[in-house]
Amino acid sequence: MKFCDKCGSHMKKTKVGFVCRKCGTVIHASAGIETENMKKIERSSSIYVVDSSEDEYVKVSQVCPKCGNTEAFRWFSGVSGEHAGIRRERAIEHFKCTKCSHSWSEAS
Ligand SMILES: [Zn+2]
Ligand SMILES: [Zn+2]
Repeated sequence: MKFCDKCGSHMKKTKVGFVCRKCGTVIHASAGIETENMKKIERSSSIYVVDSSEDEYVKVSQVCPKCGNTEAFRWFSGVSGEHAGIRRERAIEHFKCTKCSHSWSEAS
C-alpha cells in the first residue's frame, strides 16, 4: 500500500508503478525493473564460464614429439594478452599423447 506524496490518497498499483487516481501523480517502479535487468546480466554472463571438463578432450591424429605415437588428446585454452597496446584473445592448442602422456601445446 502506497500513499500519494501530494494529496495523501491511496495510490493504485499499475505496470509502470503507483498512480494516484485523485491528482494523477505517478511513482515509477524503477527499482523493480533494475533488479530484473541485473538478473538478466547475471544469466548472460554465465554463458562465458569456461568449462574445462575432460569430456571436451578430442582424440586427434598428432605425432607425439617424445615417443612418435600418432594419437593425442586435444583441448583448447584461451589466453588474453596485450600486443602493441591491443588487447586480444589467443587460443592455445594443447595436446597430450595417448601412449606416454607427454603433453605439449601450440599457439594457433
Ligand atoms: Zn495524489
Ligand atoms: Zn608419446
